[in-house]
Amino acid sequence: MTKTLLCVLAHPDDESFGTGGTLARYAMEGVDVHIAIATDGAAGSVAEGYEEQRSELAAVREQELRRAVEILGGTLHLLGFRDSGYINDPNNKHPDAFINQDLATSVATVADLIRKVKPDVVYTHDSTGGYWHPDHIRCYEITTPAFAQVQAEGHAWGPKKLYYTAFPNTRTKLFIAILKLRGKDPTQMGRNKDIDLTKIGLDPKLIGTKINIRVGWDKKRLASAEHGSQGGGGLAGYFPKFLRKRLFGYEQFIRAYPAWTYGDPKETDLFEGL
Ligand SMILES: [Zn+2]
Repeated sequence: MTKTLLCVLAHPDDESFGTGGTLARYAMEGVDVHIAIATDGAAGSVAEGYEEQRSELAAVREQELRRAVEILGGTLHLLGFRDSGYINDPNNKHPDAFINQDLATSVATVADLIRKVKPDVVYTHDSTGGYWHPDHIRCYEITTPAFAQVQAEGHAWGPKKLYYTAFPNTRTKLFIAILKLRGKDPTQMGRNKDIDLTKIGLDPKLIGTKINIRVGWDKKRLASAEHGSQGGGGLAGYFPKFLRKRLFGYEQFIRAYPAWTYGDPKETDLFEGL
C-alpha cells in the first residue's frame, strides 16, 4: 500500500530550506507526499534585486513555491493565511495575520486537511518554531490538536505518527564556531539581522529520528534555489562546499506521537514500524 506523508509548514520556502531533503527522498521512494503551506509569505524579507516586487511578494512567492514543489515532488496545499512576519515585525498586528486568526478555526482547517489527505505520518514545526518565528509556532499550536482530534476519531488509515522538525543545539554550537571563523556575527543572522543563532537549537535528548537525505540533496538544493526572493540558499550557503553534505546530510525530527523518549531506539525512517 502506498504510504502517505503530510507536512504542515509556515511559509513558501520552509518546505525546501527546512526539510526539503526528507520530502524529496520520500517522493523518490514512491511515498504520496503532501505539502501544506500555511501562509502566503507576504511579510518575508526581500533579497537584493527583488525590491520592486515587494507589493506583490505573495504572488512571486507562490510561483517560487510551485516550482520548488515540482522539483521536490508532491501535492501542494495552500492554507491561505497571511504571513505574520518575524518577532516585532509590524505585520504581527495585521488583522489578517495567521497568528491573529481564531485558534479553533485554524485547528479545524488542518483537521479537515488531514481527513482529506489521510496521511500515515504528519509533521510540522517544533514548539520553538525552529528559530522562534511566530508563524512556525502557530503551525505547531494548530497541527498538534488537529492531529489528536482526527487520531481520536479512530480511522482505519490513521493518522499514525506525528513529528516535529528539529534542530539540535549541538549543531548550533558547531555552526556558531564556523561562522565566527568566517567573520560572521552569529547573533545577527538573516537578511534583517534579526535572527540570533545562539538562541536556536533543541536538547539532542529530545530528538530520536534522523533521516539521511543524501539521495534528496540535489533536489533540495535546486528547490531552495527557486526561492530567489528569499535568497535561495538557507544556512548551507555560509559553509564551504566540502562541509555541506557532512553538516546538512541529515534532517532530524522529534517523534511526538507515539511519543519518543530518551533511551528508546532511534529511528532512521518516519514510517518505521508502519
Ligand atoms: Zn518559515
